[in-house]
Amino acid sequence: MSASNANGSAARLALITGGLGGLGTEICRQLAQAGCRVIAADLPASDARLAGFREACATFGDAIGYAALDVSDHEACATLVGRLEREHGGVDILVNAAGITRDASLRKMTPAQWHELMRVNLDGVFNTSQAVVEGMTRRGFGRIVNISSVNGQTGQFGQTNYSAAKAGVHGFTMALARETARKGVTVNTVSPGYCDTPMVAAVPAEIRAQIVAGIPVGRLGQPADIARAVRFLAADDAGYLTGVNLPVNGGYFMSF
Ligand code: NAD
Repeated sequence: MSASNANGSAARLALITGGLGGLGTEICRQLAQAGCRVIAADLPASDARLAGFREACATFGDAIGYAALDVSDHEACATLVGRLEREHGGVDILVNAAGITRDASLRKMTPAQWHELMRVNLDGVFNTSQAVVEGMTRRGFGRIVNISSVNGQTGQFGQTNYSAAKAGVHGFTMALARETARKGVTVNTVSPGYCDTPMVAAVPAEIRAQIVAGIPVGRLGQPADIARAVRFLAADDAGYLTGVNLPVNGGYFMSF
């Protein structure tokens, strides 16, 4: 990836939602490594959490910043992107990595668990993508990478909400990819398998061991495995890849 934009004057600006998270932080680091200026957009965070993030990104100095954002707030997404357009000339790369789980079997799932998850995992993708897409198409360049999940492809017990939202993310990707393909804007999905992050650490150890036993590569994914795929799709020269779902799951779920 080049550190310059189309007119050769500035690094690409990448906005990473959920940027303080297990996968988001590594995505920030790898895009900075690729020469981008990066904004990690995440919920307002404690000083301790922000200090941990800054430490993880210290190598990249000012290339990685943080902005408080709730992706479920449509107006807040538009406001942040407007500010970034004024300050930096526009968002070139959007990575939608913000996500939550609200697990329960369908019989026990409350409407609040359903709606809360949809507001972040699916509405959030709409809110941020809508905020950036006009500027991207006007400038003739954009990369949107949406983080889905293997559980959107296979379904998962106790995750009707999560699986529905994550499957919906790729439907969104394909539809928007068609809308923007002629404008230099690609839209793709990365579907991680089970990764070594706090989200998966929260799964009981016994179930985690069963999951690892079912992964052909024989280990959980590392955040770097996922970030590498994002970086690949976000590159300037990835313009012929659009509407793709790229599974990164150690062979846990194979399909074509
Ligand atoms: P994580 O919990 O470490 O990070 C998620 C981040 O999203 C957190 O920093 C959180 O603060 C942020 N967030 C939550 N609600 C938000 C909101 N309303 N607005 C802005 N930010 C918000 O989880 P992760 O493992 O880094 O997951 C990142 C993405 O990858 C998620 O979409 C997740 O569903 C997906 N995923 C993760 C795994 C995995 O194994 N970890 C597997 C498949 C898919």
